Amino acid sequence: MIADVVIRQDEFIMTVSPARKPLIAVSACLLGQKVRYDGRCKPLPLLLQEWSALFDYYPLCPETGMGLGVPRPAVQLMGDIERPRVIGVQDTSLDITEDLYRYARTHVRNLPLLCGAVLKSASPSCGVRQVKLFSADGARMSRSGTGIYAREWMRQYPHLPIQDEQALQDAESRKQFVERVYACCASARD
Ligand code: SF4
Repeated sequence: MIADVVIRQDEFIMTVSPARKPLIAVSACLLGQKVRYDGRCKPLPLLLQEWSALFDYYPLCPETGMGLGVPRPAVQLMGDIERPRVIGVQDTSLDITEDLYRYARTHVRNLPLLCGAVLKSASPSCGVRQVKLFSADGARMSRSGTGIYAREWMRQYPHLPIQDEQALQDAESRKQFVERVYACCASARD
């Protein structure tokens, strides 16, 4: 039998059974997978080190998952905040909107039983909040957008904790996220 492990996190201590760690979705680029449009990744030490004792990870990348290559043209959100389009940054004739919405709907529906998600901030696919959103003519920009995949996740799983890595820089946000994931995991096992 695998022994429980006592883990010190920020201001609190947890006892974790390695055999019963909650499974959370994570943007693959945060786990060091080189899937970004520029062929790079954004590894997050918090996930790769401290939290690897707390959680098991289900890596996902909506853009490569829907069949886009690496590297690939960068895209951005444009138009209506409720249903933005996903358009090329350099080449505005590039439009992956419908393919990304379709992929997100199907992929989120078919995920395994998960207890939360950590997604990449600022991404037109994964960004949870404050993603750049350009007006239809590209002239104006706000930070009021949500990535297409993250939006679909929140629509299908409104009660599951979801956070981006920027928010997790704050100790209280980290603590709340861990507690909510473990609470979701416990209720799912009841
Ligand atoms: S932000 Fe999301 S879509 Fe973009 S590379 Fe990372 S996992 Fe893929």
